[in-house]
Amino acid sequence: MTTTAITDIACLVTNDPSLGDGSPLGLIRDAAVVIDGDRIVWAGESNRAPAADKAVDAGGRAMIPGFVDSHSHLVFAGDRTQEFNARMSGRPYSAGGIRTTVAATRAASDDELSANVARYLAEALRQGTTTCETKSGYGLTVEDEARALRIAARHTDEVTFLGAHIVSPDYADDPAGYVDLVTGPMLDACAPHARWIDVFCEQGAFDGDQARAVLTAGIAKGLHPRVHANQLGHGPGVQLAVELDAASADHCTHLTDADIDALGQGDTVATLLPGAEFSTRAVWPDARRLLDAGATVALSTDCNPGSSFTSSMPFCIALAVRDMGMTPDEAVRAATAGGAAALRRTDVGRIAPGARADLLLLDAPSHVHLAYRPGVPLADAVWQRGARVA
Ligand SMILES: [Zn+2]
Repeated sequence: MTTTAITDIACLVTNDPSLGDGSPLGLIRDAAVVIDGDRIVWAGESNRAPAADKAVDAGGRAMIPGFVDSHSHLVFAGDRTQEFNARMSGRPYSAGGIRTTVAATRAASDDELSANVARYLAEALRQGTTTCETKSGYGLTVEDEARALRIAARHTDEVTFLGAHIVSPDYADDPAGYVDLVTGPMLDACAPHARWIDVFCEQGAFDGDQARAVLTAGIAKGLHPRVHANQLGHGPGVQLAVELDAASADHCTHLTDADIDALGQGDTVATLLPGAEFSTRAVWPDARRLLDAGATVALSTDCNPGSSFTSSMPFCIALAVRDMGMTPDEAVRAATAGGAAALRRTDVGRIAPGARADLLLLDAPSHVHLAYRPGVPLADAVWQRGARVA
């Protein structure tokens, strides 16, 4: 293997407090990073960097770990421009709009769906996202859900079975029958292709008992739970997620004090998806309350054609800082190490020896610019598994 030293990094975010200034971001000024193959082998101050075969001059820019987007819905077809346009003209969002995408996704070919996933992953990668989870949930039949997961697994290791996204329109009069399908034949067909099981626990989707049935069936098949919880209103999703040791409770927009306490004390990450609140003109989740209670917070895009059609982690960082009470440091950490925690990964989301060489060089002298310069494309260079990809 050839080693490469990236030098003259003005500000390096390692997310490893032991490496840097002792802050959660583990900042190192005037830093260098050495990579060997797909791994990071050294990070520290430039003047202590070991010799390497090749050198890349970062030109006084900032470097952070590649973003870890732990929540997206990329296996879909079709478009919901009209729904967004109508909503921005005053109509509220309800979970039912998902049915439009279900019809389009069922009608699409494997190649169309795969090309869509590749397109949005490439779009995210250009903006610095080097790890991306994605879900099924627009098929809602045994065949269509298994197909979505097979396609997702061609593109990412972080694949989530979300047959319980909404009750399939085919079971509109028999939601219990649909839960039996999801926890029975659909799970049997889908489990081999997924790492995670998810459920949309919300009024209009699945109630607490149904969500519990879905998650426990998935756990029994070796899948790990994560939950769409408390997005549109209060409900049992967060408590259920913590009780079942879900890796993440996602959305967390409407939380009681008991929900906050549970997230503060448990290992379940609170994943906030501000693109959804932005795109539905909904109330923002209160990240400050969660952080002050000791919760681990992740930021993610929720990229999907209905309620959050953005693949941009920098956009989510800017929203979280502007409207959710996060500091720029906290938001950058949530979009990197937080996402890794929400996927129970330690090999991504940090720049430290042994971690995957997933690096984002910013066209800025500081990571703070991700919030300070909203909407500006700041990704100057991206390395994924040690290969310079953008
Ligand atoms: Zn989602």
